[in-house]
Amino acid sequence: MNIVYYPHPALRWKSKPIAEINPELREIVRKMFDLMYEARGVGLAANQVGLPLRLFVVNVSAESDEADQELVFINPEIIHRKGSVESEEGCLSLPELYGQVRRAEEIVVEAFDLEGRELRIPLTELVGRVVQHEHDHLDGVLFTDRLSDSGQREVEGRLDDFEAQFRRQQAEGKIPPDDEIKRQLKALEPQ
Ligand code: ZN
Repeated sequence: MNIVYYPHPALRWKSKPIAEINPELREIVRKMFDLMYEARGVGLAANQVGLPLRLFVVNVSAESDEADQELVFINPEIIHRKGSVESEEGCLSLPELYGQVRRAEEIVVEAFDLEGRELRIPLTELVGRVVQHEHDHLDGVLFTDRLSDSGQREVEGRLDDFEAQFRRQQAEGKIPPDDEIKRQLKALEPQ
């Protein structure tokens, strides 16, 4: 398992609900936290590791030794949004690219945790923003899609660079062609 980069097709995939919480899923979650800490991130969605599952992990401390702050969201839904606030975001699938994104100031999210308990939690501040960003990933939406027109223009060149690098790696055979990746994603969808 590794983090995939823009424009990997998994980042544009609408992920499917998880049918069962089992040891395999626990192993996926553990590996996702490890990759997230390694990359110094505060959130990571299954799409970002090439898995078409409605799952993301969050730890706003970004520290592996603060495991008590680890949050796992399985089949999450944002059921309430209130207010609006703009702040800077980045993404582990778009390294070193940042932009101002407008998000709801307060949300209520419903999800299952790894023990299968149903959670319903109100969130604000950084964790509220991270959850909105990660939830977008599950629908194939990236923070760059939510930039203002001028913000979009500012990152255009960088996105082109990411694209060129990705296509180069595909040409070199280091990454499979898009069609093959899409077939793999389809095969990995929960039944
Ligand atoms: Zn992201």
